[in-house]
Amino acid sequence: MRSRICTICAKPSVIVRSHEGRSLCRRHFMESVERNARKYVGKHRMIESGDRIGVALSGGKDSAVALYVLKNIVGKRKDVSLCALSIDEGIAGSRDAALKKAKQLCKKLGVKHCTFSFRKELGMTLDAKVRKLKLGREGVCGFCGIARRWILNREARGLGLNKLALGINLNDEAESIMMNYVRGDMLRAARLGPVTNYSISGRGARLFIPRIKPLRMIPEPEIELYAKFASLPFHPKHCRYRGGIRIDVEKSLDMLEKRYPGTMFTIVSTFDRILPGIRSAVAQEGYVLKCKKCGEPASKDICKCCELWRNG
Ligand SMILES: [Zn+2]
Ligand SMILES: [Zn+2]
Repeated sequence: MRSRICTICAKPSVIVRSHEGRSLCRRHFMESVERNARKYVGKHRMIESGDRIGVALSGGKDSAVALYVLKNIVGKRKDVSLCALSIDEGIAGSRDAALKKAKQLCKKLGVKHCTFSFRKELGMTLDAKVRKLKLGREGVCGFCGIARRWILNREARGLGLNKLALGINLNDEAESIMMNYVRGDMLRAARLGPVTNYSISGRGARLFIPRIKPLRMIPEPEIELYAKFASLPFHPKHCRYRGGIRIDVEKSLDMLEKRYPGTMFTIVSTFDRILPGIRSAVAQEGYVLKCKKCGEPASKDICKCCELWRNG
């Protein structure tokens, strides 16, 4: 039976957390999300004195909440700085609207905002790349992700940032974990986790800007609800190129979560227990090199971005 009142204060509830057996009103829900993020950031020492953090801001709800929550956590600390980085991939349609929302949010929060584009950094928009190579849905996300990460890493380093914060939520992380199991990609699995810092050795390791994921234990529907309650400007649409195996994994996980509440928590927390083992198992393969063409971290002599985007 779904409870209609807050377990804490008996006001009308806005959410039922079946896996916790609690219902929460708007205020207690928002406090709980903030507390979860704050605790997670503290537990994994995501913020340290002297940090210059760049939040990867897409204009969607997840990165908007990540920026908002981090801004609250950092508060008026003088020893930590925060800025936002957006990428214009060059996708006709919703991308401009999303970038506008990103800009609005930064203005609202008083955070410095930098935008970088595929066209300027790589000489071609994603749309043009898709047309040129006649990429199917399966391939686009891979091409886009490689280019986005390459630009983010390079520009973050250029701006003197030492960490990149990502708005990855619980569903995203559970999906990524399952995707890597399905594809048998242990190297990629080793790169998941609350903090990715490639402590693995190699010439290129220090070129990699560590990633932090403050929202990693917060379910997607809660992020969306939080963004709405906090009146954060965000664009509601998914990317139109979204497709491939991720969609199938997403559907299966949604089904499991519905039937067995708490499944996603279990997947991610179980993964975290075996992650040290995975990392040591692939330590040799995970050796990070420096790309001979662009100087970015690479797993071979030439990085994936140079291979796929900068080979003209
Ligand atoms: Zn309450
Ligand atoms: Zn390269």
